[in-house]
Amino acid sequence: MPVVIIFFLVHWYLAIFTHTFFYHRYAAHRHFRMSQGWERVFYVFTWLVQGSSYLSARAYGAMHRMHHAYADTDKDPHTPMKSSNPMSFMLDTRNTYFAIYKNDVMVEDKYTRDLPEWKAFDKIAHNWITRFAWMGLYTAFYVVFATQWWMFLLLPVHFSMGAFQGAFVNWWAHKIGYKSFETKDTSHNLLPVDLFFTGESYHNNHHKFPGRVNYAIKWFEFDVSYWIIRGLDAVGILEIRKKKTPQPVNAWVDQAA
Ligand SMILES: [Zn+2]
Ligand SMILES: [Zn+2]
Repeated sequence: MPVVIIFFLVHWYLAIFTHTFFYHRYAAHRHFRMSQGWERVFYVFTWLVQGSSYLSARAYGAMHRMHHAYADTDKDPHTPMKSSNPMSFMLDTRNTYFAIYKNDVMVEDKYTRDLPEWKAFDKIAHNWITRFAWMGLYTAFYVVFATQWWMFLLLPVHFSMGAFQGAFVNWWAHKIGYKSFETKDTSHNLLPVDLFFTGESYHNNHHKFPGRVNYAIKWFEFDVSYWIIRGLDAVGILEIRKKKTPQPVNAWVDQAA
C-alpha cells in the first residue's frame, strides 16, 4: 500500500479516536477521570494527532454540552438543521467554536463546569503559526512520498481532520441511519458496524443515554473506543465513573437513561 495512504489511514483513525476519547468522552461527558499528569499526557498526544485542527477541550466541551442540552433547537450551537450543506455546517460550527473559545459569547457556568483547561499549552498548540507549521509538515510528507497527483487531494482533509470528522458525524447522524430509540432530536445511528468513527457513529444511542460510556447497545454494534477505555481503566491510567456515582457534571444533559 502506498505510504501516503497508510499515513492517511493512521491519521484518520488516531484523529477520530482522540476526538472521541479526549474531547468528547473525557472533556465534555466526563465518562471517566484521570490524574492531572495523565490528562496532560493525553493533551499532548491529542495535539500531536490533531495537529493543524487541534481544539481546546474546554471550548469543545462547552459547545458539545449545549448540543445535548438544546439538540436541534434554535439554541443548539452544533445542529445541522441551521446549515444548508455539510461544508457550510463545518464553517458555521467553526465560527461558533471560535466565539466560545475567545469568550465572545456568554456560556452559562453549568456548561463549563469541570471542563479541563491548560491555558499555557493551548497558547502554543492553539494558534495559527503552529497550525500552519503542521500543514507544512503534512505537505512536505506528501511531496516526498506521494506517487500519484490525486493523492494531493487528500491534503485538505489532513489540514482540517478534526473539524471534518466532527462535522461529518454530526451532519449525517442527524439526517440518516437507523434509530434504536425515540429521542426529542433527529439523532440516528449512522453505521450498524462502525468501521470508520471508533464508536461515534452510535449517535442515537448516545443522545438517548449521554451518561453511558459504551456507545454500542445492540448485539451487532461494537464501540472500539469503549474497549480501549476499559483497557486503560484496567491498567490504572484512568477510572471509569461508576453508574451509581453521582454525576453532577451531567446535570446539563437530558438524562433519559
Ligand atoms: Zn456527546
Ligand atoms: Zn448530535
